[in-house]
Amino acid sequence: MIDAHVHLEKGDYTIEWIEQFIDYAIKRNIDEIFFLEHTHIFKECHNIYNEMSMYNEYQKNWYQKKWSQARPLKDYIDYIEKLKHIDFPIHLKFGLEVCYSPEHEMDVAQIKQMYPFDFLVGSIHFIDGWAFSHLRQRWDKNDYDIDELYERYYTLMLSLINSGLFSGLAHPQSLQCYGAYPQKDYQHIYSQLAQALCSNNMYIEESSGLAINYGDKQLGMNPNMLECMVKYNVPILTASDAHLPQNVGLYIKEMNNLIRAI
Ligand SMILES: [Zn+2]
Ligand SMILES: [Zn+2]
Repeated sequence: MIDAHVHLEKGDYTIEWIEQFIDYAIKRNIDEIFFLEHTHIFKECHNIYNEMSMYNEYQKNWYQKKWSQARPLKDYIDYIEKLKHIDFPIHLKFGLEVCYSPEHEMDVAQIKQMYPFDFLVGSIHFIDGWAFSHLRQRWDKNDYDIDELYERYYTLMLSLINSGLFSGLAHPQSLQCYGAYPQKDYQHIYSQLAQALCSNNMYIEESSGLAINYGDKQLGMNPNMLECMVKYNVPILTASDAHLPQNVGLYIKEMNNLIRAI
């Protein structure tokens, strides 16, 4: 089994740190991990946050704090290079989780030039600057037009896929982090997304991150979206979005069962 979305940023870039993740992976029958880091922790990725950091006071402070602690991309690259020379008991890949906004495709293309990462996964974390999944910026679904939000969310997702910049699409259900589940039948849009993923040779994540980090009651994609991805043969990679060793591989077995049941 695979865990295609695991972050290392909460520890020092040491061998001992990554071994803790691998130990948990082995216990949960995971034989491959995709490690990745958020672009917001790197100095070189500053431009990507122009709009989000101007959206409101909370987001401005959030990014300013990240920026004050930002590290050079070279720290991560050096770590990857060191790890690639070690024979670990499971397969490892190293990449980035990029916050996608259509305004910054050129910036992402430039970051991509800096190092031959094994993969880049694109995430919709912002809708026109609004960071909708921040725990300190919780929102009530009754205050929003959910249909309108989902239209925009899926439009951004389609443009992420068609940008040709990414190997995968991260947590495609993240807008429901505070219970705002899609209310309409989006079959037509799911088909469009699935076809675009196929023609761009991309995978989609079946992610337990929302269940783990937000207590989402639904594990992974909603059944309609998952069924559509299976129907179009989109590669589906299970992913925990773990930020700590003990969350690696969490609910991966259960998500494999959901995929198999389609
Ligand atoms: Zn994410
Ligand atoms: Zn993540």
